[in-house]
Parts: sequence; structure tokens; C-alpha cells
Amino acid sequence: MRGVIMHAPRDVRVEDRPDPVIEEPTDAIIRTVATCICGSDLWPYRGEDRVHDQPMGHEYVGVVEQVGEDVTHIKVGDFVVGSFFASDNTCPICVAGYQSRCVHAVPMGPLGTQAERVRIPLADGTLVATPGYPDEEIIPSLLAASDVLGTGWFAAVAAEAGPGKTVVVVGDGAVGLLGILAAKHLGAARIIAMSRHADRQALARRFGATDIVEERGEEGVAKIKELTDGLGAHSTIEAVGTQESMLQAIGSTRPGGHVGFVGVSHGVSIPGRVLFPAEVHLMGGPAPVRQFLPELISLIWDREIDPGVVFDLTLPLERAAEGYQAMDERRATKVLLRP
Ligand SMILES: [Zn+2]
Repeated sequence: MRGVIMHAPRDVRVEDRPDPVIEEPTDAIIRTVATCICGSDLWPYRGEDRVHDQPMGHEYVGVVEQVGEDVTHIKVGDFVVGSFFASDNTCPICVAGYQSRCVHAVPMGPLGTQAERVRIPLADGTLVATPGYPDEEIIPSLLAASDVLGTGWFAAVAAEAGPGKTVVVVGDGAVGLLGILAAKHLGAARIIAMSRHADRQALARRFGATDIVEERGEEGVAKIKELTDGLGAHSTIEAVGTQESMLQAIGSTRPGGHVGFVGVSHGVSIPGRVLFPAEVHLMGGPAPVRQFLPELISLIWDREIDPGVVFDLTLPLERAAEGYQAMDERRATKVLLRP
């Protein structure tokens, strides 16, 4: 089969890889119908995470081709959505709703979903089947549920976005934008997007942002305070993962408010002298997307949300390298790849 390998920073190639096989009785093999490039794939691409001959990709929708003998819920022929961690969905951590930290969690990235086929461990716990084979037009939205929508949703829930709340969103990548969609769906009264890119501001407004703040850092925080009677937001979504964005998120939140942080931390170190007086709730980490998949699939199936519009470039899998380049240069927000 064909699949993406990142040999080194900025060296992405589509190559022949061995077809996956059932290794454990709980595995399934899917034929990938759509996959994509994640903002987090840019960390190794830019040399900020180590990478050497690594299969890439952790987002996927596809059709089940084979199942192991212990798989009972998922059937050959099902169209399925899964997340970036395989999880059993039965251990105490999963039952509590934190499937990304399942005691048997398997990260999908090293298995590499940017490929024609993928082995899915713990298939019964990991995969959610759609009600039937989806119309072509909702495939991008179902793919978004696999990571960026599920992650933005978790961030909004962790930030306790809801009716009457003012929500600030730090980060205008796909996750931040879909955090806006989630906050809107959860009933937020006011959603302030922190973005300085015209195209992303437009998408932010389409998803429900009521205000845009272009300033960053301390200036950005001052602007948020100005817009909220000096108080700060009730709920803040952090979707970048840098020191600046994390401090911006904490600073933008009122005492007693909630920060949902989902940007993968790179060099973040929160000083106690900032954290202590801030008096905010912090909840974040790798999003337990699996918890939200049934609800998200249902909302997409019923055409109530259209997160798939975050994909602004679609390429055949063979041209994955161009997709990485486009996202690196910010010419694309999110690139969908079709095997
Ligand atoms: Zn578990």
C-alpha cells in the first residue's frame, strides 16, 4: 500500500509500505477513505520534535475490511470514525470519560493513518460506526470529528462554555476555529476569537465568533479585559500550546473562570506568581475525542454542524508533501488527503 513517511524535517514522501495485518484479536483493518494533516504534524516537520523515518497521520475515516476474532461490535463493511488514541473504552479511566488516557491507550500516529490502510487496535472501543455509508459531502466533517472537532469540543467543554458565558478562543488554527463552533453549539452568549488572519477571522465569524481581537500577549489580555468590564472571560479555550498562548489564556480568564487547554505543550512553564493570583480552573490535555464521537457523528449526520469547512485544501494522498508545505506556509488551514 501507499503511505506517508517523514524521513526528516521537511522531507515527506509517499512510499510503498507493508499492508497492515491483524496482529491482536482485538484489531481491525480499515481502508482509509479520508485522512488529513494535523497542526501537530508541523512540530516534527519544522524540526521542533524529533523525527526519523516515521509513518505519519492519526486522523481517519474509513471502511472496515477485516476484524480480529475478539471484535464483536464493529463489522466488516462498516464506515467508521476513530480518534488519535486507540482505547478499550471499558477501563476505569475510559468509563470516567478520559479515553485518550486509557490504561491500554495506543497512539495512532506511529501506525500512520496517512496511508491507504491502517490497523486499528482495540477496534470495539476505538471505532464508532456511522448509521450507513455517508454522502460524499459530509465525509470531511466526519473526518474533522476524528481530531480537530473532537479536540475543539473537549476544549469548550473543559472551559465550561455554555449559556450566558463569554468565551475567549486563543489560536485560530482548525482546533481553535472548531472550539468556536463547539462553544456556539453549547450556547455561549459571546465568543471572542483571537486571530490576526483575515481568512480565519471570516471562518471564526461563520462558526459563531461575535468579536475578533487581533492583539496578542499582554496587549491581547488588556483588550479582552476591556471587552469584559475588566473581568476577563468565563471560559477560555487555548489551542496553540506555546508559553505565550498559555499565559494569554490564563490572563484572559476571570477569577473563578475555566481554561480548557488542548494545544500540545511545547516549552510551556507556568510561573506560580502568575497561576496563584489568577484563581482559574485549568483542565486540558490530549482530548478524549472518543467520548464525544457518537454525539458529533449524530450532529454531522443530521446536518446540524458543518466542521468540514475547515479543510481548505484537498489533495490526493500521493501529493501529501505539498499539503505539509501549504500548512507550514499557512497557505492552508487544514489539508485533507484522499487515498
Ligand atoms: Zn480504557
